[in-house]
Amino acid sequence: PKEAAVGPLVGAVVQGTNSTRFLVFNAKTAELLSHHQVELTQEFPKEGWVEQDPKEILQSVYECIARTCEKLVDVNIDIANIKAIGVSNQRETTVIWDKLTGEPLYNAVVWLDLRTQSTVDALIKKIPGNNNFVKSKTGLPLSTYFSAVKLRWMIDNVKIVQKAVEEGRALFGTIDSWLIWSLTGGVNGGIHCTDVTNASRTMLFNIHSLEWDKELCDFFEIPMNILPKVWSSSEVYGLMKAGVLEGVPISGCLGDQSAALVGQMCFQEGQAKNTYGTGCFLLCNTGHKRVFSEHGLLTTVAYKLGKNKPVYYALEGSVAIAGAVIRWLRDNLGIISTSEEIENLAKEVGTSYGCYFVPAFSGLYAPYWEPSARGIICGLTQFTNKYHIAFAALEAVCFQTREILDAMNRDCGIPLSHLQVDGRMTSNKILMQLQADILHIPVIKAIMPETTALGAAMAAGAAEGVNVWSLEPDDLSTVMMERFEPQIQATESEIRYCTWKKAVMKTMGWVT
Ligand code: ADP
Repeated sequence: PKEAAVGPLVGAVVQGTNSTRFLVFNAKTAELLSHHQVELTQEFPKEGWVEQDPKEILQSVYECIARTCEKLVDVNIDIANIKAIGVSNQRETTVIWDKLTGEPLYNAVVWLDLRTQSTVDALIKKIPGNNNFVKSKTGLPLSTYFSAVKLRWMIDNVKIVQKAVEEGRALFGTIDSWLIWSLTGGVNGGIHCTDVTNASRTMLFNIHSLEWDKELCDFFEIPMNILPKVWSSSEVYGLMKAGVLEGVPISGCLGDQSAALVGQMCFQEGQAKNTYGTGCFLLCNTGHKRVFSEHGLLTTVAYKLGKNKPVYYALEGSVAIAGAVIRWLRDNLGIISTSEEIENLAKEVGTSYGCYFVPAFSGLYAPYWEPSARGIICGLTQFTNKYHIAFAALEAVCFQTREILDAMNRDCGIPLSHLQVDGRMTSNKILMQLQADILHIPVIKAIMPETTALGAAMAAGAAEGVNVWSLEPDDLSTVMMERFEPQIQATESEIRYCTWKKAVMKTMGWVT
C-alpha cells in the first residue's frame, strides 16, 4: 500500500441532485484515495414537477460504496481501515416511506419542484397576525423550495400517504434520513434521524431552540410523530447493516452546503464559500449569531460538530439553476453530449455577443424569491449561434452569483475580498475566469474540489466514539489553491451586469 494509505480512513457519501458519490480519505492527510460516482435519473412528470426515485438513490449509494471499495482493494488498501462514514446530501428533497415495509410511499419530491405553489399561496393567506411568523422561527421565506409544503402536498394528494400517516406507519425524512434509516437496517431497526443542518431546511424546525416547532407543525398540519429525531452533525447515529462496510459507524451528517462550508474550513465568522452544482449556494459563517437578511438571503444552521459543541449559523444566497442549465443544454437541446463540452463551445467565441440567458426554470430564488419568473434567452440576432448560447449559459451562473454576493455584502457591511469556490463546475476554467471578471474580486479554488465530501468525512471522523480525524484546520490551509484574477475593467463588468439585470426583469410575472 501507498505510505499515505496506512492508518485510519474515512468514507463520505455525497448524495446530490445530479449524482451520488462515495469517496474515501486518509484521515491523517485528507488525501483522496478512491471514489466512484453514479449519475441519477431526474423525472419531470409534469411542467414544473421534479422527482427522483428514493430506491434508485439508495441503490446508487450501495453501488458507489461497493465500487469504491473494489478500487481500494485493487491497490492493496485494506477496507477494514475505514473507521467511519459521513453522509452529505441534497437538502429539502422530501421522502415519505412505510416503516413496516421499508417502501417509499411516493417518489422523492425534489427541492426544485414547483407543484406546491398553490399550497404556498393558500398557506400565506392563513399566516397568523405576524407576517414574519415562518421566517422569524425558521430563517426561511414561505416557498415551494422547503420540505414542509412538499410533505403537506403529499398528504393532501396521495391517498396511500394519507392512509399511512393516519395509521401511524409513515416516516418523513429528507434524503439524509431516508439513507441513514435504510443503511442502518431499515425495517430491522433502522435509525430514524436527521441533523440540525438538514432539519433547518424543512420549515418545521425552530433555529433558535434547535427543536421541531409545535406551532409550525400545527400551521402546516404535519403530525409530529412522523418526524425524525434531530441530532448534531457529528455523532454515531448507527452502524451500517449491509454491504461491504457492514458494521462501520455512520457518524457524520450534514446538508451538502454545510458540508462544503466545513470542507472549505470556513470556521471563522465572516468566511464564505460558493459551491457550483445543480444550483449554486453561497454561505457565509455568522458564528453563533443568527443574522436576518434585509436582502433576500436565508438564515440557516451552518453546523454543530458534536452533541455538546456550539451551533454555528450562516447567511445563505441560494441560486436554483447553475449546473442544471448545462445539463438542460445537454438533455433538452442536445447541443452538447457531455457537460464538460460546454467549455470548448464557449471558448470558440469568448463572448455571448449580446445574448443573455436567464435560466429561471424554477422561478427565481435569492435575492428575488419570485415564483412567477420563467427562463428566457434574449438579445438574439441572426448572428447568434449555439456557441454564444453556451457562453451566455456560463455567464448566467456568474451573474446569479454576483447578485447573491452583492446581497451578502449589503447584509454583512464588509464586502468579501475574495470568493472561495468548489463543486464540480469549478473544473471549468472559462467559468472560473468569467466569475472573477464579473465579481471583480479574485476567485480561489482548492485543487481538491471535493470539499463537500471532505466536510462530511471530517464530521464523521471527529465524532465522539470514533475520533480518527487528526487534521487540524491549519494543516489544510496549505492545500494548493488556484487563483483567478479579474482580467477586465470594472466598468465593463458593470455594463454587462446592468444588461443582465434588464434581462432578469423580463422573466418576472411570466406565470400568473
Ligand atoms: P449535485 O451536487 O447537484 O449532484 P454535481 O456536483 O454532480 O451536482 O455537479 C454536476 C452539475 O455540474 C451538473 O448539473 C453538470 O451539468 C454541471 N457540470 C459538470 N461538469 C461541468 C463542466 N465542466 N462545466 C460546466 N458544468 C459542469
